[in-house]
Amino acid sequence: MSKITIKCSSCHEPHGIEVYNSVNVGQDPDMKEKVRSGALFLWECPHCGRPNLALYPFLYHDPDRKLMIWLLPAGSVSDAQIKAVSAQLDALEGYTFRRVADVGSLIEKISIFDADLDDRIVEMAKYVTAMELAGKAPDKSSEILDAPFKFFKMDGADNEITLTYPSGGQMQGVNIGFNVYEDCRGIIQRNKALTEVTGFATVDRAWVNTIIR
Ligand SMILES: [Zn+2]
Repeated sequence: MSKITIKCSSCHEPHGIEVYNSVNVGQDPDMKEKVRSGALFLWECPHCGRPNLALYPFLYHDPDRKLMIWLLPAGSVSDAQIKAVSAQLDALEGYTFRRVADVGSLIEKISIFDADLDDRIVEMAKYVTAMELAGKAPDKSSEILDAPFKFFKMDGADNEITLTYPSGGQMQGVNIGFNVYEDCRGIIQRNKALTEVTGFATVDRAWVNTIIR
């Protein structure tokens, strides 16, 4: 753990908080729920009582899933530092490494991997779903195409996947069949650039766009 000083988003008073630089949820399973709920990143300002979200570099390690997700807020670490760390990863065989820039994306990634899904395929499924929804609603198509779709859950006997996205100031949910996921798996497997993901890779819409557009 380390101590950082951050300013309240409401009253701007500085406050020192203890933060975890990393958690190993294999050794410390209780921490997993705190990460997934976002509680680990919340702190309450002692001056005005406002709950704040603290954003700092944080490594999530799930040894059972061989998964490492590095939460790196924009500008917190240089590309050279990331490369240096990534170069040491070969020893960790069979691991998946991901990099995200915000707490919401970290939580989403954990949900995807905990559902035994491949996040590259989920990103492709989000893209395909956005295209389809945009096609059905021409008046809102650009809003839908720019919307940040998130994986919410997979459930039921048919493994139905629920995605969420903001539209018209509200959160919308859209359910997609597992066949969409399977189709997207095919797209990924046919595309070498999409399968070769190395180091702490960012797998998001921008990543899909580099290949598709
Ligand atoms: Zn405050």
